[in-house]
Amino acid sequence: MTRVWVCERPLRHERIGWANGILVDTGKSRLLFDPIPGGGLRKQMQVFVTHAHSDHTYGFRTGAKKYSTKETLEIYQALRDRAVQDSYTLQVGESIRMEDSEVSVLNAGHMLGSCQYEVVAPEFTAIYTGDINCIDTLTTQAAEVRSCDYLIMEATYGHPAYVFPRRSTMYADIVSWTMTEIKAGKIPTFQVYSSGKPQEVVRLFNVYTKIPVVCSPTIARASRVHTENGVKLEYIDSSALEGKRMLKTGACVYVATNNDHLPRNASRAVVTGWAIHRAFRKFTSFPLSSHADHDQLVEYVRKVNPKRVYVFTGYSDVLASEIERKLGIRAGPLPTIAQTKLLDFSETIT
Ligand SMILES: [Zn+2]
Repeated sequence: MTRVWVCERPLRHERIGWANGILVDTGKSRLLFDPIPGGGLRKQMQVFVTHAHSDHTYGFRTGAKKYSTKETLEIYQALRDRAVQDSYTLQVGESIRMEDSEVSVLNAGHMLGSCQYEVVAPEFTAIYTGDINCIDTLTTQAAEVRSCDYLIMEATYGHPAYVFPRRSTMYADIVSWTMTEIKAGKIPTFQVYSSGKPQEVVRLFNVYTKIPVVCSPTIARASRVHTENGVKLEYIDSSALEGKRMLKTGACVYVATNNDHLPRNASRAVVTGWAIHRAFRKFTSFPLSSHADHDQLVEYVRKVNPKRVYVFTGYSDVLASEIERKLGIRAGPLPTIAQTKLLDFSETIT
């Protein structure tokens, strides 16, 4: 889903760009954020992971020195059942000194442990958002806003057609549908990925209903990391005896991944921002997203008030035009940094 744009004319300011990850060159340090598989990752680089969703965690599999929040590392390790080597954890609000710069960790509001990174280099300041959400949810707080020179931001829902309903309205719609399905003898089943959204769904039923929530084993593992880090969740693991009994008797909600076996009387739902404009066959859909919508993204840029915005993924071209038109701030795709520019880093890692 990641769309990478190539700038035809190199920017005068080539300290920020795409090199199979977001590269910020501070002069003495080369910092690589959320790298993806491919060439260009060099051992001397410092790798920063923003959150535990799998399209952002390739950096944990490399031999580079890696940084993330504790929660992100714990979710990643819990889901894969293996330890990450040469990894250092930082807290939101904490800063770390690099050779000639400082990197600070800001809350991103996207899921437990998700963060933005601020780089204060000798000649400029930059913020890389990763995935952000700019409103409070039942499990996360809105993304922090800080001013900077260069803002590198996601644009997943950057099109003006993507403006989400109020969260309280979506919560009410989900509870209402669930009640109807249970009365009809069904098991309302939410098919989601393993971390972030499922825990918000669990918390939603814990807060607004007394309906027991059963989670598939993968989601239960990620949920355990949440409870260990202060997110109150009550759920039953479907692999436990009680979970199996619940799924047979039917008076419960089931939260499962796409890979999990579902009960025969499951009534399936998806929760995703794409539901605003897309129908999901055989599913009831709710536009509950962990990302900022178009209006939130534009408002976020207005508050940050950078000299320039680099947008990536999703509706990046549309959002860039909207930022220039509405805010008068230069916005466009990340320039691709040629491999030849990285040649002074001799040792490639896997
Ligand atoms: Zn994400």
